[in-house]
Amino acid sequence: MKVLKFGGTSVGSVENIWNVKNIINDGEKKVVVLSAMSGTTNQLVAIAKHIADDETNEATEKINKLHETYFKVIDNLFQDAALNKDVKTYVSSIFNVLVESTYKPFSMYLENEIVAQGELLSTYMVNSYLKQEGISSALLPALDFMKIDADKDPDINYIKTHFKATFEKAEDSEIYITQGFICLDDKGSISNLQRGGSDYTATIIGAAINAEEVQIWTDIDGMHNNDPRYVENTRPISNLSFDEAAELAYFGAKILHPQTVTPVRALNIPVRLKNTMNPEAFGTLINNDHSENGVKAMAAKDGITAIKIKSGRMLQAHGFLKKVFEIFEAYETSIDMITTSEVAVSLTIDDDRNLDKILAELEKFATIEVDKNQSIICLVGHSVVNHSETYKLFQILQDVKIRMISYGGSNNNISLLVDTKNKINTLQKLNDYLFELVTL
Ligand code: ADP
Ligand code: ASP
Ligand code: MG
Repeated sequence: MKVLKFGGTSVGSVENIWNVKNIINDGEKKVVVLSAMSGTTNQLVAIAKHIADDETNEATEKINKLHETYFKVIDNLFQDAALNKDVKTYVSSIFNVLVESTYKPFSMYLENEIVAQGELLSTYMVNSYLKQEGISSALLPALDFMKIDADKDPDINYIKTHFKATFEKAEDSEIYITQGFICLDDKGSISNLQRGGSDYTATIIGAAINAEEVQIWTDIDGMHNNDPRYVENTRPISNLSFDEAAELAYFGAKILHPQTVTPVRALNIPVRLKNTMNPEAFGTLINNDHSENGVKAMAAKDGITAIKIKSGRMLQAHGFLKKVFEIFEAYETSIDMITTSEVAVSLTIDDDRNLDKILAELEKFATIEVDKNQSIICLVGHSVVNHSETYKLFQILQDVKIRMISYGGSNNNISLLVDTKNKINTLQKLNDYLFELVTL
C-alpha cells in the first residue's frame, strides 16, 4: 500500500481539493494523510497566543472569522444538502471546542488541543467530500494510533499495533484518510509532531505498514536546488539519496519536516515529492541511490546562535572539550556546527532556551563571545567533499562574509555560518556560481 500526504495548500481551496480527489481516485487502496487547510494552523497558534495573553475578545473574534471561512468553503464543496448540513454540524462542534478553550486557563496542553483542531477539520471535510463524489473512503483517527514517547520520538511498536487495529476496525474502503501532525504524548495527552509535522506522520505510517512508497504532495514540483522563497532561478532535483534529503530537511528546506526521512530510510521505502497543482511533473524521488554530481542543493537554517569559547590552553588541557560538551548535554541543547583552534572552540546551537544558564557555566573556565541571528547554509551532494568542482566554493568566499565553515564532517555536507542579514545574498551568489556557472 502507498501513503500519500497532502499539505495545507493542497487541501486549502475547493479547486485543490478537486485535484486531490483526482490524484487519489485511481482504484488502489491507500492511506491519505492530510494537513490542516493552509493558514489554519497559523490562526490556531495565534488564537492560543491570545488566550495565553488573556486577550479573550481577540481570540473569540479570530475563532468566529475562521468559522465563517470554513462555512464558505463548505458551501462551495457540498451541493448535497444532507452532507452540507452534517459537515457544518461537525465543523461547528470543533469551533465550540475552540470557544470553550477561551474560558480555560492557558497551558501547553490547551495549546496542543487548540492547534490539533485544524487537521480534524480538514480530514472530516475531505472524507465527506469523497463520499459525495461516490468514492469509498473511511477516516482513521490519528489519535487512536499515533503516539510519541518521552523523548518525543515516535513509539513505533505502539503505532504499528494500534494502526493495524484502527485499520481493521474501519469500514472496508479504497481510501483511508487520517490526520497529519497530531498525536498523543507518552502521558496520553494530545500533542503534535511540531510545525510541518504531517510529512513526518506520513513516513511514520509508511514505516509502520512497510509501505511500498510514501508520496508528499505539495505546492511545488519537488525539492529545488535552493530555497525558491529567496533565490531566483532555482530548479527541481529529480533524485536525492536519503542522506541528502535528510541533510537538506534538517538544515531548513521547508518542503520537508526535518525528520521526514528518518522512519523510512533504514527500510528503504522511497519518498516521492509531487506537485498537487501539476501532477505530471516528475517531482523528486528520494531513495538509496546516489550520484556524485558535486553540490546538488543548498538550504539555510535561521535562528542560529554561535558561541566562541576561548581558553588560554585548550588543546594541552585534555578534557576541555568534554567539559564543554557536558554543559550542553546537561541542558539538553544539541550542537550543530563546531570548529576548533588551539585557543578556542566555536560552536552553534539552534535552541537558545537555556543559553543564559549554559553561558554562566562556561564562563567559570573560559571567555565567551556570543553572536545571535546567524544562519547555517548547508551545501549538499553525495561525496561533495571529494568532488573535483567543489574548490569553486572557496573562490566565492572572497565575496561573502563567513563566520564559520564546516568541511569534512560528513562527505555529503559542507556548512557555512553567515549573519542572517547576509543569508539571501550568499544563497543567491552560491546559486549563480555553482548552478548557473557564472564566473567570478
Ligand atoms: P505543505 O503545506 O504542502 O506542507 P510547505 O509550505 O510546508 O508545504 O512546503 C512547500 C514549500 O517549501 C514550497 O512552497 C517552498 O516555498 C518551500 N521550500 C523551501 N525550500 C525549498 C526547496 N529547497 N525546494 C522546494 N520548496 C522549498
Ligand atoms: N498543519 C501543521 C502545520 O501547519 C502541520 C503541517 O502542515 O504539516 O504546521
Ligand atoms: Mg509542510
